[in-house]
Amino acid sequence: PDRLVDRDARPGDEADRALRPQTLDDFVGQPEARANLRVFIESARMRGEAMDHTLFHGPPGLGKTTLAQIVARELGVNFRMTSGPVLAKAGDLAAILTNLDARDVLFIDEIHRMNPAVEEILYPALEDFALDLVIGEGPAARTVRIDLPPFTLVGATTRLGLLTTPLRDRFGIPVRLEFYDIPDLVKIVTRGARLMGAPAAPDGAEEIARRARGTPRIAGRLLRRVVDFAVVEGDGTVTRAIADRALTRLGVDDLGLDAGDRRYLRLLSDHYNGGPVGIETIAAALSEARDALEEVIEPFLLQSGLIQRTPRGRMLAARAWRHLGLEPPRPPTP
Ligand code: ADP
Repeated sequence: PDRLVDRDARPGDEADRALRPQTLDDFVGQPEARANLRVFIESARMRGEAMDHTLFHGPPGLGKTTLAQIVARELGVNFRMTSGPVLAKAGDLAAILTNLDARDVLFIDEIHRMNPAVEEILYPALEDFALDLVIGEGPAARTVRIDLPPFTLVGATTRLGLLTTPLRDRFGIPVRLEFYDIPDLVKIVTRGARLMGAPAAPDGAEEIARRARGTPRIAGRLLRRVVDFAVVEGDGTVTRAIADRALTRLGVDDLGLDAGDRRYLRLLSDHYNGGPVGIETIAAALSEARDALEEVIEPFLLQSGLIQRTPRGRMLAARAWRHLGLEPPRPPTP
């Protein structure tokens, strides 16, 4: 489903490439990750060596790709980009590796989705900067070792648990990206609005930030829509009133929930007295696939403390009742 508040990239998101921060100083938030990266980049530069292999992990839209590009720029090296699902055969990766310059950054997005045959040739590449290629077939087959230039692999994954242990162990620098707080999202929105030529008032930026689910990608997407309204219906300034009107009209409420989220919560409040309700029952009642609910709708509701998962099913939390403007039911008297 195509949702305004999806954390994954959607068509149209390319538009905010122009908004991407280019330097570590411009990158807002993630103070710990930034401080550490600054040291590793500086050290690699001073030693004239490739930086250690680095793994960015965390939910989509938090800046993994952006940070990888920044690392390459600050190291003063080329940035090459591919992704796990794109590397179908070992030869695909070998072709990229043999074309790297010394100290380049190779970025592999969705690295947990790499084919095992590709992963296999990555190990010696990461450890020894060497490729072991099998030449010929059958009894005549032999292995030749090709030296590679030293390089930095930057991997990104939304599913750390799906990485094999040997691959995980080869990253010297694991970096976990966290959700952004409102003040950081306000900074991101304010900067983006300025770059789009539609300056944001502080409370206008905050109105967008609050609904962005802790995620810069969503903040940028909501901002683009609000700017449309600001230009057409206002004077081109992102005010609180314009932001509120635009986002309400687009169905994104002040917790960042959209119509699909509210439908889910309403089912539990109106038909099941807040639960517990089994996921299969919810899926049937909403005519949605169970997987879609578990992967698309529930994570943010759980993260926001709006629902709870119990062994007997899903339950509405007190916060959800309040958000829906309803009284939570009284606990049953024993
Ligand atoms: P990921 O690779 O984690 O899915 P991206 O790096 O593609 O996320 O970032 C998604 C969008 O959010 C990009 O358009 C980027 O410009 C913006 N973005 C991410 N992090 C920041 C940040 N810290 N400051 C400003 N913009 C950011």
